[in-house]
Amino acid sequence: MEFNPGLIQLLKDAQTIAALTGAGISKESGIPTFREVQTGLWARYDPQELATAQAFKRDPELVWEWYQWRRGLVSEAAPNPGHFALVNLAKQVGSFTLITQNVDGLHQAAGSQDVIELHGNITRTKCFDQHHPVENYGEIEGLPPRCPQCKSLLRPDVVWFGESLPAQALEDAFRAAEQAEVFISIGTSAVVEPAASLPRIAFQAGAVVVEVNPDETPLSPIAHHNLRGLSGTILPDLLQQAWP
Ligand code: NAD
Repeated sequence: MEFNPGLIQLLKDAQTIAALTGAGISKESGIPTFREVQTGLWARYDPQELATAQAFKRDPELVWEWYQWRRGLVSEAAPNPGHFALVNLAKQVGSFTLITQNVDGLHQAAGSQDVIELHGNITRTKCFDQHHPVENYGEIEGLPPRCPQCKSLLRPDVVWFGESLPAQALEDAFRAAEQAEVFISIGTSAVVEPAASLPRIAFQAGAVVVEVNPDETPLSPIAHHNLRGLSGTILPDLLQQAWP
């Protein structure tokens, strides 16, 4: 793809860049987004209805097993060129902040450091009642397993729909959005709040907003540059043209 020369120059000159990623960046690693039809056993469930505390209370075994399936996908997945391009971008810019809504840990697997995880991480587990982090739950009697400390049921350490985001992560993300000269929104449908507000806050603070997505989103009308395509292609191309 040929990019607007103004965008290339802007990236080269910028001292402060922030990027927000969503499920789309991991799609080329084989991890489905929430909005596409799920496969196999899980095809008849709506992920947005499983990823809630209400669903867990109603049927903890079902929700636990759905996450076990997703953990399996994540454990077999490897970062793709989109993830690696962001590792390289961090090396080119004075201050680069990577904010993700993803729970798959693929940015860290690619080598990104200090990733702000807004929605937790599927590979971690905590208990439902007290949020005790649990690494080993050993022999399991019944599903889900229970917390060794307080005996409440274990759940993935992710933020479910309707739950609050980790306060420090949110504060860091908002600060990065306010300070960025360039804000890049990648592979997110830009509808899940509060993450969806981040590019808008950057825009209001004067940042140049860039969207990388094959489809239009509610952010597209205000983005200064809409780069339509797959992040695994666009991001490496962008890097190559800015820093050949
Ligand atoms: P989303 O599913 O709402 O939207 C994904 C977006 O990515 C869409 O706009 C789609 O057009 C775009 N897209 C698809 N393929 C792409 C590609 N190859 N390159 C670039 N863009 C591509 O995802 P969201 O906005 O992140 O919100 C959904 C919520 O679901 C988040 O809270 C997230 O935590 C969770 N989730 C995470 C994962 C993961 O960790 N990999 C997977 C599914 C859902």
